Amino acid sequence: MSILVFGHKSPDTDSICSSISLTYLKNKLGVEATACALGEIRKEAEYALNYFKVDAPKIIDSLNPDDSVIVVDHNEYAQSIDGLEDANVLEIIDHHKLGGMKSNLPLSVRIMPVGCTCTIVYNMFKENKVEVPYEIAGLLLSAILSDTLLFKSPTTTELDKIAGEELSKIAKIDMEKYAMDMFKYGTSLDGLSVEDIVHMDFKEFEMSGKRVGIGQVFTMDIDSVFGKKDEFLVYINSTDYDMLVLAVTDIIKEGSYILYKGEDSVLSGAFGVDASQGVFVDGVVSRKKQLVPNLTDAISASN
Ligand code: MG
Ligand code: MG
Ligand code: MG
Repeated sequence: MSILVFGHKSPDTDSICSSISLTYLKNKLGVEATACALGEIRKEAEYALNYFKVDAPKIIDSLNPDDSVIVVDHNEYAQSIDGLEDANVLEIIDHHKLGGMKSNLPLSVRIMPVGCTCTIVYNMFKENKVEVPYEIAGLLLSAILSDTLLFKSPTTTELDKIAGEELSKIAKIDMEKYAMDMFKYGTSLDGLSVEDIVHMDFKEFEMSGKRVGIGQVFTMDIDSVFGKKDEFLVYINSTDYDMLVLAVTDIIKEGSYILYKGEDSVLSGAFGVDASQGVFVDGVVSRKKQLVPNLTDAISASN
């Protein structure tokens, strides 16, 4: 039976492209595998798939206990498909912190602190001496540009940059221009409600006993958020989080505008700014490396 390869729920470009590319590599190595997605493809990944004329992976929403799977771009049950606890996980390829998965059998785990799962997958092509075709190079590169924000995110490593350079030649892509076009297409907020935007990429955390929600939206269309600032604040304040932070991240300016529910002093403490709605925090673009640890510290210090 074919091995199912999938990334996390609410799949981003890395989850889609690493599934497809790793599946291609496995097939080349004689392993029967099928790329899957745990949810609808978002616009940014759709841009990459259309550009390189690759079919979207099939969407699945449950597993059978006898399924064999490879998990990419995540390693936490909470972010994954129902039934993963009982499936046979053969392999994990990821670039996040350990997320507490368990296994009954030995498995391959490759987790590296790089900017993108596709950087690891690209290196697996090299290690296995499998040629990367044009369209797979394009998908790998799209994911690397996406996860590293064109190498501007603090999660970016030298390995990501090297992979980007090499893949851009195979994919015949001007990285700067392609990334801008992809981000523009992917971050258009047309037709989305205030609530949709807050929850588009939303995670909940517990910090010193407080329930904290952090939403992040990458856009090159800041005006369409600030035109509705009051509407956002009404909605954010109507939620029952102790603190809610919406980071509207401007990829070009390399920082985030912050709308929030919570104490001004916590926000000021977290980001070293004078707290005000819509304040721009220079250099803050990563939830994992900046928003979460900064807020965790500031909330802890305020208790
Ligand atoms: Mg991801
Ligand atoms: Mg990723
Ligand atoms: Mg991501």
